[in-house]
Amino acid sequence: MERDKLASEIIQHCLEMTRLGLNQGTAGNISTRYQDGFLITPSGIPYEKLTPAHIVYIDGNGQPDAGKIPSSEWRFHQAIYQTRPDANAVVHNHAIYCTAVSILNRPIPAIHYMIAAAGGNDIPCAPYATFGTKQLSEYVAQCLKYRKATLLQHHGLIACEETLPKALWLAHEMEVLAKLYMATLAIVDPVPVLSDAEIDVVLEKFKTYGLRVEE
Ligand code: 13P
Ligand code: ZN
Repeated sequence: MERDKLASEIIQHCLEMTRLGLNQGTAGNISTRYQDGFLITPSGIPYEKLTPAHIVYIDGNGQPDAGKIPSSEWRFHQAIYQTRPDANAVVHNHAIYCTAVSILNRPIPAIHYMIAAAGGNDIPCAPYATFGTKQLSEYVAQCLKYRKATLLQHHGLIACEETLPKALWLAHEMEVLAKLYMATLAIVDPVPVLSDAEIDVVLEKFKTYGLRVEE
């Protein structure tokens, strides 16, 4: 796909992320794989002000377009594309319930079968590191090696997928899980969970189940 079309898709998904109530203000960022690098939202520009010309290309050497300022989190986007050849889109946000669980510094356990959408029996929580740092990108890469979504301690959520619609869908599902976790955690701790054997069954089913907008 050509650059302008991908840039428009990124903006459309940023606006949709806000519409879904997953983000606020200038928090969060979105990227898609492009050529030998990726296209990413700029730093600090409100989504409703974005035009395709604002979207920044970062090449395979981590070099951004001259004169443009990419998202401060470009390092973890780069680390994800390097760690996961299957990921072509990355969504990051500060969704309220995901961030609330991240503040408790807990992974989300297998409280619902939809946990399998992220590829396993939990959603990990990457240890805290200052936003934009190489340290944070290393923690993120470790967590996303075996999962498609991770919480970031005292920060928010990242979801990666084969396509942009799927990455946003996954981010939305993670917020629903986080909301369910917070609701049940208020009543009982530990919250009852599904067995690993059942999650294995669901993981198998998820090989042919999920968002189907591209067909
Ligand atoms: P950017 O505007 O630089 O992408 O920062 C938003 C953010 O969520 C940082 O973690
Ligand atoms: Zn952030």
